[in-house]
Amino acid sequence: MTVVVLGAGAVGTATAWYLRKAGHDVVLVERQPDAGLETSWGNGGVIHASEVEPWSQPGMPLKIIKWLGKEDAPLLLRYGAIPHMLGWGLKFAANCTPEKFRANSESNLALALYSLRSLQEIGAETGIAYDRATRGVLKIYRSVDSLDGAQRSSDHLAGLGLTYERVSPDRCVELEPALRDTRSTLAGALYFPRDEVGDCNKFTQGLAAACAKQGVSCRFNETVQKIEISGGRAAAVITDKGRIAADTVVVAMGSFATPLLAQLGISVPIYPVKGVSITFPRGDWKDAPTVPVIDDSKLFGLVPIGDRMRISGSAEITGYDTAPAMPRAEAIIANAGYTFPEMRKHLDIAKSRVWAGLRPVSPSGTPLIGETRIGGVWINAGHGHLGWTLSCGSGRVAADLISGVKPGIAPPPGQGIVASGFH
Ligand SMILES: Cc1cc2nc3c(=O)[nH]c(=O)nc-3n(C[C@H](O)[C@H](O)[C@H](O)COP(=O)(O)OP(=O)(O)OC[C@H]3O[C@@H](n4cnc5c(N)ncnc54)[C@H](O)[C@@H]3O)c2cc1C
Repeated sequence: MTVVVLGAGAVGTATAWYLRKAGHDVVLVERQPDAGLETSWGNGGVIHASEVEPWSQPGMPLKIIKWLGKEDAPLLLRYGAIPHMLGWGLKFAANCTPEKFRANSESNLALALYSLRSLQEIGAETGIAYDRATRGVLKIYRSVDSLDGAQRSSDHLAGLGLTYERVSPDRCVELEPALRDTRSTLAGALYFPRDEVGDCNKFTQGLAAACAKQGVSCRFNETVQKIEISGGRAAAVITDKGRIAADTVVVAMGSFATPLLAQLGISVPIYPVKGVSITFPRGDWKDAPTVPVIDDSKLFGLVPIGDRMRISGSAEITGYDTAPAMPRAEAIIANAGYTFPEMRKHLDIAKSRVWAGLRPVSPSGTPLIGETRIGGVWINAGHGHLGWTLSCGSGRVAADLISGVKPGIAPPPGQGIVASGFH
């Protein structure tokens, strides 16, 4: 069977890897000159079971309305985007009940843990060098209320396999001495020892090279224009370079899955939510954090990736525009500078890469993995703020389902777009 995978981000590349392992002829099509150059380029770099809670959570719709148009809002909905995302917004709101939030968090956790195992196996098999570090993640809080709330959610997930520890401000500084300047402002933290970090771009490019070695045909610099349907089934993919015959097509184009599948009358509720990262050389910042820190009240992550530091954050609903808004980047830098005053001396914006990417967010906060109502047209997209975390497990689940094999875990909810479960 020939399977054509569209999009070589973290998700599409992992899908191609597992499909090839299952013995299929695989073609991977990507508009960029290499894999992992769009949203999978500059993300926060964290493989985090600690962040599996979807953004669609109780109280969120009211918060978003309150933050409307506010430049410094954690999640900024721009007025201009509203007409295009009303349907998505209503579905998002419908997922904010306590029951749905809990079910969606559980589904993400199962996939995150499966994905972490899969990533580790791929790493061991291929030897891809991607600046992997395994010092866990420290999520810091400045109010006891927010720490208690986070602990309640983590306690529930701990029963399902999440490993975490609540730590005092002193223990925070023990775990990460760079927090000493901000110790007096801390209420404590949750420490997730099994979370890992790495460079998603390096991993994805390494995996694409490993795919090619195994016989996957990687077609870079080629833009997908449409999926050709014949006799009610996928027959081919039409690109700017020609026609690729296909028995099965997997759309793994992140936020761009929506416009492609709309051509076939399939309405996919994935909307782009822009985030920003700033990557700078660690240089002579000798006491830079070695443990990744996520600051819950200031809403950024500061992560060491190899010899670089990366700060990431911001969520802005503003369509498909990927230009990083400097005020948003400056706000992230200011917040990180509050928590790590030393950082200000070492971050030179002229030597930094300021980047923005589009998180492909589904209303439930869980990805869509499965066959659409058109035979042979599959989707693996909508991984939101968790795409690097969930990529290997999602690729594996998709490849198993396509091969007619029961996947290692239950697929995420189908959201009315794909069949849920294994048939
Ligand atoms: C600031 C920020 C921080 C983040 N931090 C984290 C984190 O710490 N941990 C985590 O797990 N996740 C994080 N994420 C989320 C994660 O980066 C994404 O969920 C993930 O990269 C999505 O991967 P993908 O393969 O679905 O999409 P993409 O990486 O966008 O891949 C889709 C590919 O499809 C290609 N494509 C699109 N249209 C076409 C076409 N017409 N023809 C051919 N090719 C096409 C694109 O070029 C692209 O390469 C973060 C995101 C942002 C923005």
